[in-house]
Amino acid sequence: MAKHDSALGLATPFVDVTRGIDIANLRPAQPVTLVRPHAAARAARFFVEKFPGKSLYAVKANPSPDLIRVLWDSGVTHFDVASIAEVRLVSRTLPDATLCFMHPVKAEEAIREAYFTHGVRTFSLDSIEELEKIMRATHDATDLTLCVRLRVSSEHSKLSLAAKFGAAPAEAKALLFAARQAADALGICFHVGSQAMTPEAYSEAMERVRAAIVEAAVTVDVIDVGGGFPSVYPGMEPPVLEAYFETIHRAFESLPISYSAELWAEPGRALCAEYSSLIVRVEKRRGGELYINDGAYGALFDAAHIGWRFPVRLLREPESNVRDMPFSFYGPTCDDLDHMAGPFELPADVQAGDYIEIGMLGAYGAAMRTAFNGFGSDETVIVADEPMASLYMGDAERVASNVVTL
Ligand SMILES: *Cc1c(COP(=O)(O)O)cnc(C)c1O
Repeated sequence: MAKHDSALGLATPFVDVTRGIDIANLRPAQPVTLVRPHAAARAARFFVEKFPGKSLYAVKANPSPDLIRVLWDSGVTHFDVASIAEVRLVSRTLPDATLCFMHPVKAEEAIREAYFTHGVRTFSLDSIEELEKIMRATHDATDLTLCVRLRVSSEHSKLSLAAKFGAAPAEAKALLFAARQAADALGICFHVGSQAMTPEAYSEAMERVRAAIVEAAVTVDVIDVGGGFPSVYPGMEPPVLEAYFETIHRAFESLPISYSAELWAEPGRALCAEYSSLIVRVEKRRGGELYINDGAYGALFDAAHIGWRFPVRLLREPESNVRDMPFSFYGPTCDDLDHMAGPFELPADVQAGDYIEIGMLGAYGAAMRTAFNGFGSDETVIVADEPMASLYMGDAERVASNVVTL
């Protein structure tokens, strides 16, 4: 695993596969993304083996072709795509993958290209207008799996997805009925919001599904519980994923659906959060504020805009033995908004020139980077050490990992 695809053009010895990256020798002037294919593979195998249904990877969480190939090699065969660019990307990267176009509001041209050029047969919708659009774009295809998205609560999740999409209870009956007429297979899907902190988020949503099925009196072939499966971050330690799977399985088994109905999920974050971390350099210190070379317009959008906390560690040899204190970060752009409140716990003697690893950035961090103000970098190194936290290594390792719990 010592090979790397770094734009740094570095020789292999700089990558120490047991520890990650040799910062003391490397001293990169730009942020460096570390990727851990073994961690993504482990997450994928976990879902493939333990989720009691089919797992579709939600590509928006991290659209890296390298990652998508790792997931495929580990048994993930279905992909939740939301734009024509994501359809093309996965289609190009994995010609044999099954794509499901799960954005409830699509461009008609996107539906047409997805259906006729890329073989997409599964589409989601939350309105009669979208149903009509799908039928028009596919020339009244008779081989469609149509998934009606229901609106459900996001109250147990850190990031709401409850306001924008989903048919309200009063609209669901007519929509399910119309979709049943048009579909070869009828599905019901929902999204409980990202980073759902309790399995009850899913059992409560499944009660909405039950009510909708009973009211519309239609035969349902697919129940898709969406994404929302959590990862581990400082101050956010969810129950084990098996507890989510059990709750979902129990609720699925008790629904009034046929024995042959399929259960699907669309994990994004849970499959890729552990895939990457970022190495940044401290360019200046002002009291408890560190000016680092990545930020809100880089991989730290969530840290800046919704106060997400990520695990951090100081990469210094020999290790600092000074006690930790809380820091906040400023990113490199000339913008006050480029501020990450944290708190991030680091040794109190951190100074300019030090390097910090920010962990658990594989989901949404890497996907949302921009080049605003001339900052940001694509430098990537493959490493084989363990992520700073993991949902997939069992309790002993989780305790031994570097998660700071407040
Ligand atoms: C974003 C999204 C997902 C992935 O959500 P996670 O919280 O990352 O698991 C899955 N399905 C849909 C429709 C989404 O919009």
